Amino acid sequence: MTERHGHFIGGEQVAPSDGEHFESRNPATLEVLYEAARGTAPDVDRAVQAAHAAYSDPRWRDLSQTRRGHLLRRLGDLVAENAEELARCESLDNGKLLREMRGQLTALPEYLHYYAGLADKIQGDQIPTSSPLMLNYTMREPLGVVGAITPWNSPLTLTTSKLAPALAAGNTLVIKPSEHTTRSILRLAELALEAGFPPGAVNVVSGYGTEAGQPLVDHPRIAKVSFTGSTTTGSAIAASAGSRFIGCTLELGGKSPNIVFEDADVSNAAMGVVAGIFAAAGQTCIAGSRVFAHRSVYDELLEKVSERAQSIVIGDPLQDETELGPLAFEAQRDKVASYVKTGVTEGARVHTGGCRPDTELPGYFYAPTVLTDVTNDMRVVREEIFGPVAAVMPFDTEAEALRLANDTEFGLAAGVWTRDLARAHRMSRGLDAGTVWVNTYRAMSPMSPRQGFKASGAGVEHGMESIREYTRLKSVWINTDEGPVADPFVMRG
Ligand code: NAD
Repeated sequence: MTERHGHFIGGEQVAPSDGEHFESRNPATLEVLYEAARGTAPDVDRAVQAAHAAYSDPRWRDLSQTRRGHLLRRLGDLVAENAEELARCESLDNGKLLREMRGQLTALPEYLHYYAGLADKIQGDQIPTSSPLMLNYTMREPLGVVGAITPWNSPLTLTTSKLAPALAAGNTLVIKPSEHTTRSILRLAELALEAGFPPGAVNVVSGYGTEAGQPLVDHPRIAKVSFTGSTTTGSAIAASAGSRFIGCTLELGGKSPNIVFEDADVSNAAMGVVAGIFAAAGQTCIAGSRVFAHRSVYDELLEKVSERAQSIVIGDPLQDETELGPLAFEAQRDKVASYVKTGVTEGARVHTGGCRPDTELPGYFYAPTVLTDVTNDMRVVREEIFGPVAAVMPFDTEAEALRLANDTEFGLAAGVWTRDLARAHRMSRGLDAGTVWVNTYRAMSPMSPRQGFKASGAGVEHGMESIREYTRLKSVWINTDEGPVADPFVMRG
């Protein structure tokens, strides 16, 4: 019988209010993995009320910041102890390489440990006043119930990037995971309970965006929305949150440039291009999908990237030798295939790939694809494809490379390949992107803040700055002067 899951509310599995479930399939083999609860507004309401009750309970409210940190540390340890199960769970659900998931699961406890350490460093300031008898200080307070909505491409990592700072700051959460990847997030919520977080501190309502996500965003008890997903959905969520004046952290789409200069180590740059666009089958927000190569190294780079693309081992993500798994679901594969067709119609040439690869597995595979003869006005260059498709373009000068790289609505990340230090610095300053990598691609850590510029987001994740996203600032004035008030019509600070 197929495994069936409920929501996770108030510390226990809860059946969906209308009894409906939906299937999750392995995108490599198409087998049904489990059924998840199909959440609707009543489920969301129940979860938000549970989160609000947990938030208001003095056992959580008055828990010292140091002890909140202890709980996060314990959760990090539990994630490490269950790493293999969690890695497999996600690999089966979204087709990511098990190898890559094992790597992510090695890093994930560090995210939780990082925020465990930050929990008791969240503090206000003492502000100077005009009188020694007047005290003014600030307090950083939690917000309340945070609604966290996450995508399918790295569910545990992207959810932890919200859960850890939110809990460190004393909030509680309702998480709406992607409808394509529910199971690992349910498991994370169970581990949070096991770590000692009170029932209701971490709740999960599974289901579709409009049925479960939208009611979460619109719920009057939600104090903040933290969203990672597409720019289109993010824009609708921001409008709804904005109309109620609640905060919104948005990590959205990208169309990141990867720029190779004539003085670069072209072999390393080619591997950086491959890592940028073919890792995770291009299903990463930071995918280096626009490749700009100086005309003098264009042919060499194209050849090296294409050679490696053609030798990529495609197959079952659970196998150690596999380098590229399937796309996460059918519609995603169809979207990628349709973009490549559009590119060809617009005049692009398929240099490599552009089809279903040779594999015996029935899943949603798409070959690593390199497009040439592309220009910056084509849809394949302007829109996020979210698949293994690189558009490679030549440039002649640094100024032209910068202009082309910045000519996009997105501003998530950028790569620069050069041995010239001054150029590396000039480009890093000039690029309109929240993260710039020089002679590397995809490096990240919980300590390093990241922010999407332009249509790639708003607000910061990771690093110390991210705590601010989950706190509000209160200014307290205490007058210790017990003498008579000289003039009630003049206020002094
Ligand atoms: P998506 O926007 O379709 O869905 C994301 C989440 O939002 C899902 O849980 C979905 O159910 C929910 N949702 C959909 N409609 C909603 C609505 N009206 N109200 C509330 N919730 C709703 O995105 P996706 O396809 O799951 O993920 C891929 C996208 O995520 C890509 O654009 C990618 O670039 C982006 N992404 C960004 C980052 C980042 O850090 N910037 C990281 C990973 C992925």
